[in-house]
Amino acid sequence: MIEKTVIISAGGIGKRMGAAIPKQFLNINSRPVLFHTIEKFYQFDANIQIIVVLPANQIDYWKALCKKNDFKVEHAIVKGGKERFFSVKNGLAVAKGEVIGVHDAVRPLVSTRVINDCFAMALDKGAAIPVFDISESIRKVESSASVAVDRNNYKLVQTPQCFQSKILKAAYGLDYSDQFTDDASVVEKNGNQIHLIKGNEENIKITRPIDLRVAETLMRDE
Ligand code: C5P
Repeated sequence: MIEKTVIISAGGIGKRMGAAIPKQFLNINSRPVLFHTIEKFYQFDANIQIIVVLPANQIDYWKALCKKNDFKVEHAIVKGGKERFFSVKNGLAVAKGEVIGVHDAVRPLVSTRVINDCFAMALDKGAAIPVFDISESIRKVESSASVAVDRNNYKLVQTPQCFQSKILKAAYGLDYSDQFTDDASVVEKNGNQIHLIKGNEENIKITRPIDLRVAETLMRDE
C-alpha cells in the first residue's frame, strides 16, 4: 500500500466574498466547505494523511467548529505562510506520504475519480494535475489592444495537484517567485514534466458568491 498525503491549502487570508467569515468556513447545505473537502479525501482513502493549512488566527475558530459539529476525520493543522508557496512548504514539512496531493480547501466538489487518477498518474510519472477544457472564447490582452487566441491551446487548471514526494519536496527547495501560482509551476520550474489528467467539471473553486450557490446545487445532486 502506497502511503499518501493531502495538503489542503486554506492558508491565505483571501477575499471574503462579502461574508464575515472566510470562504472555507461558509456553509454548503448546512456544513462548512472544509468539512466537505476533507471528507472527499477520506472517502478516497481512509488512511491518507490529511494536513490542513490555515492562517494562524483561524486555527482556534476551526478547532471550535470541529468540536461543535463533532467532526471526526483525523487531520493535522499547520500554520499558513505569507504566500501560498510558504503555506504549502509548511505543510510539506510534516508530510509523510510517498505521493502528495495539494488541494485548494475551497474545491469541495472534486470527484473521487479525479483524486484517484491524479494520485495514480503521479505515482507512475512523477507529477500530475487535473485540467478542464475552456468553453468560452479567450483573448490575450496586450497593453491597450487585445487579440483572439485559440482556446484549444489552453486548459483550466484544477486541484489536487499530485507529485511523488521527492519531486515536490525538491521543488519547494527553490527560492520563492511570484510566478508560482500553483504547485505545478514550482515543480515545472525545477525541471519536471507535468502530466495532465481530465478534471471534473463540478470541481469549481469557490471564489465568488455565485460559486457558493452553484456548489449547493451540485452537492445536492451528488
Ligand atoms: O489566492 P488563491 O485563491 O490563488 O489561493 C489558492 C489557494 O492557496 C487557496 O486555497 C488559498 O487558501 C491558499 N493560500 C494559502 N496561503 C496563502 C495564500 C493562499 O494556503 N498565503
